[in-house]
Amino acid sequence: IVRSFDEFTRISTIRGNGTLGTGITGSVYLARHEPTGKKVAVKRINAFDEKKREQLKKELTTLISHESRFLVRSHGAFYDGKEGVHIVLEYMDRGSLDDVVSMFGKIPESVLRRITEHCLRGLKFLHENHVLHRDVKTGNILLSRRLGRAKLGDFGLARDLKESNPNANSMGEGSTSETKTFVGTFAYMSPERLHGDSYTYASDIWGLGMVVVECALGRPPFDSLHQYFDIVQAVEGTPPASLVEGKVSGDLVDFIRLSTAHNPTRRQTASQLLKHRWIEKGRDDPDALRRWLHELPGLHHDIVSERSGGSVRAQARQL
Ligand code: ADP
Repeated sequence: IVRSFDEFTRISTIRGNGTLGTGITGSVYLARHEPTGKKVAVKRINAFDEKKREQLKKELTTLISHESRFLVRSHGAFYDGKEGVHIVLEYMDRGSLDDVVSMFGKIPESVLRRITEHCLRGLKFLHENHVLHRDVKTGNILLSRRLGRAKLGDFGLARDLKESNPNANSMGEGSTSETKTFVGTFAYMSPERLHGDSYTYASDIWGLGMVVVECALGRPPFDSLHQYFDIVQAVEGTPPASLVEGKVSGDLVDFIRLSTAHNPTRRQTASQLLKHRWIEKGRDDPDALRRWLHELPGLHHDIVSERSGGSVRAQARQL
């Protein structure tokens, strides 16, 4: 756990100023935690008003208290008046899955089934702890060559449902209006979300199913569609499994069919999908993901200039 913001030094990457990537909520930069010498990824969010910061703090408590080998770890967070909130995260040295897919295209099945298994383990853990991820997409799956592992990241939208809904498996009726807020990436939206129904554990599973489709195709499944109504039509008319039929193994088509069943109550859970034949075949070659991560050509932030970007603001205080 990081105790003080002064313990960091920003590290420059070839993108300049240490930036690893920029997302919807803010940008992520690379830093070194001086007491341990470890690299960390720091997510900067423009949150200045008290209310937004309080909300972030609540979400971060969820994030920090749920530790799993299959979730990107969060080490702490700080606020400085100038740049906003800085969230200190475990550094994933291969970046996110969407970068990899857009750079290198299709992911081989032997590798994809390991990535999918790791994501399912992350989701199983969250769901057992009554937490929805709410934003499962390739951009939120991070890869570590060092660990030979994929992890789910970005719990910016995760909500702890324990208080609002003690019944973990049926969220349709008792859920808070908060879980009904219209968030998420359109292309990953499940049919129930497109219809304006509440987000459920099954909606996370749909998101993962679409991740698998994207990796198998080597491009986002509905990438030519930008309009909300186009997405609705595609989701209503095209079972995602049909997008990959004939291009991948029958087991993978079946896996996608079960994870993207139109009716959320028919969709399989993370525990069920972990027992699917396509996933279980990973036992034949458990090292496939590690090997692939080692062989992958360098990503932008592999090339790190050791010129430090200077100490991170001193007057920051713990969030
Ligand atoms: P978004 O807000 O769109 O979900 P993020 O702000 O979380 O995106 O991340 C933007 C990019 O920063 C990612 O696509 C990834 O390349 C990089 N990134 C995010 N978190 C990490 C991390 N823990 N380690 C390494 N790179 C990261």
